[in-house]
Amino acid sequence: MYQAEHNIFRNALLKFIAQEVTPRLDEWEHAGIYSRDIWRKMGEAGFLCPWLPEEYGGCEADFLYSVIITEEMGRAGAAAMMASLHSDIIVPYIYHLGTEEQKQKWLPGCASGEIITAVAMTEPNTGSDLAGIKASAVRDGDSYILNGSKIFISNGMNCGLVIVAARTDKTLGGAKGLSLFVVEEGTPGFIKVKKLEKMGLNAQDTAELLFDECRIPASNLLGRENQGFYHLMEHLQAERLILTIYGQAMAETMLEQTIRYTKERMAFGKPIATFQHNAFKIVDMATEIKIGRAFMDQLIVRHMNGEALVTEISMAKSWIMEMANRVAYQCVQLHGGYGFMEEYPISRFYRDIRTFPIFGGTTEIMKVIIAKNMGLS
Ligand SMILES: Cc1cc2nc3c(=O)[nH]c(=O)nc-3n(C[C@H](O)[C@H](O)[C@H](O)COP(=O)(O)OP(=O)(O)OC[C@H]3O[C@@H](n4cnc5c(N)ncnc54)[C@H](O)[C@@H]3O)c2cc1C
Repeated sequence: MYQAEHNIFRNALLKFIAQEVTPRLDEWEHAGIYSRDIWRKMGEAGFLCPWLPEEYGGCEADFLYSVIITEEMGRAGAAAMMASLHSDIIVPYIYHLGTEEQKQKWLPGCASGEIITAVAMTEPNTGSDLAGIKASAVRDGDSYILNGSKIFISNGMNCGLVIVAARTDKTLGGAKGLSLFVVEEGTPGFIKVKKLEKMGLNAQDTAELLFDECRIPASNLLGRENQGFYHLMEHLQAERLILTIYGQAMAETMLEQTIRYTKERMAFGKPIATFQHNAFKIVDMATEIKIGRAFMDQLIVRHMNGEALVTEISMAKSWIMEMANRVAYQCVQLHGGYGFMEEYPISRFYRDIRTFPIFGGTTEIMKVIIAKNMGLS
């Protein structure tokens, strides 16, 4: 599915990662956040939002360019930057739902890396069940007054702009009555409460956000009032596909590292890969990874053809993320004590991959969706 120009792009990206990203991974891991300058460098090099039309700062690249960036950042151990969350999940909301004025105002900064974006749906008391969102937005003249707390928000500290899901009509229960708003950094009442301490994805500035009598212009409503839940649902297919691409790429990399290690590490006079038990483990992982890759590549092509793939992508998200976690567990085991040490990248992959079956819809929620679409509930 890749053409010569895709391969040229991938090589340029790999060079950029080797020069600008890999040498600084430890720095960001310890700081608990990616520095803003790497966002600008990625923007300058054309590695943010490449799909955007030129008038908004992109180069109208096809979806495969986004796939390449997601895969290579995942393989490099840089998934924690969540550059693809910004480029391929959040910015598309502005592009597809925004007015011309909103697009002119924000999209060029998103492509250049001047504006880092976040999306705030989850609240302390509601995650899987988004219909339970309590944050509220009340119209007051030319403004809305936003109140509520959001948690686990990726890019929460770095973000210059956050899309917030809030309830605009309390009389409409559940999924109805929600709207999406763009809130800019520096707006009074928008408080970045704190960066959250996590067991993995440590370089990601996942944060708690508070909106306290936060007055935002009515023109910051994104899409239609009370249609926020449906707007979110419209984009979930692409969102889950992108997250799955990270997971698949990380599984492939973990296995490659482990094959290299186990071919070199000696025990009882032999490379540990050659003990049949270990060789079979590696073979099983390689087989599952190939199955994941074949399924995912097929979905990428069908997604690009505009097919509705909610069921299949939910299957891929749940199966590939669980598979990647099985791979992570076995790869650490095959590294022995070194697998538990920071100096070996496998330990960080093991920590980072754990959240992939949780965010963007848990494995269980994926199965709820699949079961419903199969007429089982
Ligand atoms: C690192 C990280 C980054 C994140 N980034 C963002 C972000 O940028 N923006 C954002 O809005 N959110 C973000 N999230 C939140 C994430 O999307 C939620 O954590 C996730 O949707 C699960 O919600 P919850 O944590 O409230 O778990 P709960 O909904 O409380 O679920 C707890 C458990 O119950 C299970 N469960 C729930 N309902 C059902 C059911 N009907 N059937 C079977 N099992 C069920 C779940 O699968 C899970 O195992 C992030 C989370 C993490 C960990």
